[in-house]
Amino acid sequence: MLEQARQLLEKHYGFSSFRPGQERAIQSVLEGNDTLCVMPTGGGKSICYQIPALVMEGTAIVISPLISLMKDQVDALLQAGIPAAYINSSLSAAEAAERMSSAKEGKYQLLYIAPERLESPEFMSRLMELPIPLIAVDEAHCISQWGHDFRPSYQRISRMIDRLPQKPAVMALTATATEKVREDICLSLNIDESNTVITGFARENLSFSVIKGQDRQRFLKEFLKKNASESGIIYAATRKNVDQLHEGLMKNGISVSKYHAGMSDNERISGQEDFLLDRTTVMVATNAFGMGIDKSNIRYVIHYQLPKNMESYYQEAGRAGRDGLDSECILLYSPQDVQVQRFLIDQSGDRFRMPQELEKLQLMTDYCHTEGCLQQKIVRYFSGNDIPPCGRCGNCTDNRESRDVTKDAQMVLSCLVRMGQKRYGKALLAQVLTGSQNKKVLDFGFSSLPTYGIMKNRSAKDVTSFIEFLISQELIAVEHGTYPVIYVHPNGKDVLTGNRTLFRKEAVQTREIASGDE
Ligand code: ADP
Ligand code: ZN
Repeated sequence: MLEQARQLLEKHYGFSSFRPGQERAIQSVLEGNDTLCVMPTGGGKSICYQIPALVMEGTAIVISPLISLMKDQVDALLQAGIPAAYINSSLSAAEAAERMSSAKEGKYQLLYIAPERLESPEFMSRLMELPIPLIAVDEAHCISQWGHDFRPSYQRISRMIDRLPQKPAVMALTATATEKVREDICLSLNIDESNTVITGFARENLSFSVIKGQDRQRFLKEFLKKNASESGIIYAATRKNVDQLHEGLMKNGISVSKYHAGMSDNERISGQEDFLLDRTTVMVATNAFGMGIDKSNIRYVIHYQLPKNMESYYQEAGRAGRDGLDSECILLYSPQDVQVQRFLIDQSGDRFRMPQELEKLQLMTDYCHTEGCLQQKIVRYFSGNDIPPCGRCGNCTDNRESRDVTKDAQMVLSCLVRMGQKRYGKALLAQVLTGSQNKKVLDFGFSSLPTYGIMKNRSAKDVTSFIEFLISQELIAVEHGTYPVIYVHPNGKDVLTGNRTLFRKEAVQTREIASGDE
């Protein structure tokens, strides 16, 4: 059967071999196991269900939440000579009914549907009439409340499967591999957790870096000048940011498109096409851009602001270097952006999800403050596995001297202990350490603490950044209630007692930007 799969790969896609995870995933479903397939964005998940769909008799159903992506995928399949169709809200009722009739006549090997369809009893009864050998659940993390994109209609999938006259094979696919999400998916779809295929989350051709304490506009200008001929995406947080950046870059004579949800359909589509067809080299966009975009020669992805969590970050950054050539993923970090993201989470008003969103934001912030390998940090986040340092990222290539900061850490930790733990945030701690005359500091009587002002020769900003570093090193922990409060992490006690020394790279970040291959 694998031999047949290989021939299909060659015939329809023109690839001579499977990637390692693909082969395992395909084999697993073809052997009749319901399977969870976890691969990073760009890892090649589509083939994992498309090839089994070609091998099996009947119409495979693909559940996908991304309406825009469906059409592209179906077009690509048709081009590869594979009969496929999609049904979603972009079709009229008549069109949808027509496609269902064609499906019943066995005209499609793959039928893509949006999960909301499962809420229609009429649609469901027509679905029951089809021979369905395989259900592929794309973006399966949408099942989980712990995922970053929970969709209630995804929870109907298992009931739908139960109602089918013949039990189909089930394959769930996602790029989110945190353990909680994986468990939820397996539980919801009744997949045996041992049938999980996870492939390496490291992307060998990507170099990650975090740029702190630099003027972003200047950084961007210099970077784009050096990499003028390369294709890249710049992600900004809001539509307004996108408009402003776009205008600024245009003025600088840069060939740039933009994309955000506030633009008309026509504007958006033409901006996207210009970029995809290399008529423009730079795309400035909100996170609305990129789902289902398969542009292989993107040489860099710059995040102009902090994304809200690691899932979004890795998905967006992962759009660089799909062709396997060296590419850069740069995050421009500024502490205010954390506040902006916190504000947005607050505004969402979703009390149930708030603590978990805040926790994810904290982990995103930790990523920005770590001094270890960034690729390692990412892989650990997504899969819980440790890989050797990548040797390419901003931290691996940072050869500044490390300084012993144990004493500084002790000052911060002991001040935190004296102020009371799990009561205040890091800003107040920094104020006490720098001897601020702030009303709150005086009202609480902190000016009489022995640790008051012990770091007064440094700026509050500097000390806050040091506290953030201690958080990223898991020496200080954060608890997210109504507002975030901090306390000494159990690991921090070793530093306090002098049983552990702590090193930090010199505070000023002077990393040079990457140069293009001039
Ligand atoms: P994902 O859905 O995991 O983000 P895709 O299925 O869109 O990834 O595949 C990403 C890219 O990798 C596509 O351009 C695809 O053509 C390519 N690809 C997938 N499998 C292979 C393979 N076995 N050999 C070479 N290229 C592949
Ligand atoms: Zn590294």
